[in-house]
Amino acid sequence: RGLATLAETTDAGSTSDGHGVALLANIGTAEDAERLTGAAVEGVGLFRTEVLYLGRTTAPTEDEQAEQYARALTGLEGRKVVIRTLDAGADKPLAFVTRDGEENPALGVRGFRLVRADEGLLRTQLRAIARAAEATGGEPWVMAPMVATVEEAAQFAALARDAGVRTVGVMVEVPSAALRAADLLAEVDFISIGTNDLAQYTMATDRLLGELVDLLDPWQPAVLDLVATAAAAGTAAGKPVGVCGESAADPLMALVLTGMGVTSLSMSPAAVPGVRFALSRHSLDACRGLAKVARAARTAADARAACLAEVDAEV
Ligand code: PEP
Ligand code: MG
Repeated sequence: RGLATLAETTDAGSTSDGHGVALLANIGTAEDAERLTGAAVEGVGLFRTEVLYLGRTTAPTEDEQAEQYARALTGLEGRKVVIRTLDAGADKPLAFVTRDGEENPALGVRGFRLVRADEGLLRTQLRAIARAAEATGGEPWVMAPMVATVEEAAQFAALARDAGVRTVGVMVEVPSAALRAADLLAEVDFISIGTNDLAQYTMATDRLLGELVDLLDPWQPAVLDLVATAAAAGTAAGKPVGVCGESAADPLMALVLTGMGVTSLSMSPAAVPGVRFALSRHSLDACRGLAKVARAARTAADARAACLAEVDAEV
């Protein structure tokens, strides 16, 4: 089966024994969504909306935003779309919202925390999303980045539902959120684990420092523990748990995440065929076995090597 065949495959992601795992794309613009028209992905698991706000001196208006979200929803032709509200600050600075002079921007007023400085910015975005949903008949899921506490999850859920959003979630990218995922899930309809920031905050390692890339490895045992805790909370609550960080694009990690109970994986569109293929070759039980093997390892290198050996042994 050549590349052309893979590109034409519209099958939903699934293990060899038919356990479904939604395979979704990460995008940053409405044009990205339009490029997915007809593509073999089940939808979008992370629409990074800050791109709409970049390179400007004022926030885009509600009308401008509604038009962009409507274009994205139309491009996705009724498939699932998870829109993330503005994630400005730290590695994503924005002229008109980001504070100057924070000593530790990654630990500062960023992501959902911007609501403290300017609630109107978020309300406008949420209204624009709800309007786009109404205009297109789409049903976007909407989630907030950088949520650390139950109060923040509850506040976001109230703001989103007040604006007319029906399905509300939060990202799990701070260890506090992963440890207390069960409590967050009592406030929202779903969670999505952002492994890029979760690794950064778990390992106290700047995600932009290539020099420390070994510490940012999503196979780090402490990161795997937190992901597993969040996934188990989702399973217990009967609510969806996605992963939308880079680790979802690693076919071996995708199997481990599936074994932990993750229900969707969102990645760059180019990574989807490889992950779909890996899933199709393993049963849910095999994925659970791999999750156990990964969790038992004491180092990131051992976790990866042990899972690779297990997969090789099966073949
Ligand atoms: C993440 O942190 O893993 C994530 C998906 O969000 P971003 O990379 O945009 O911070
Ligand atoms: Mg993040």
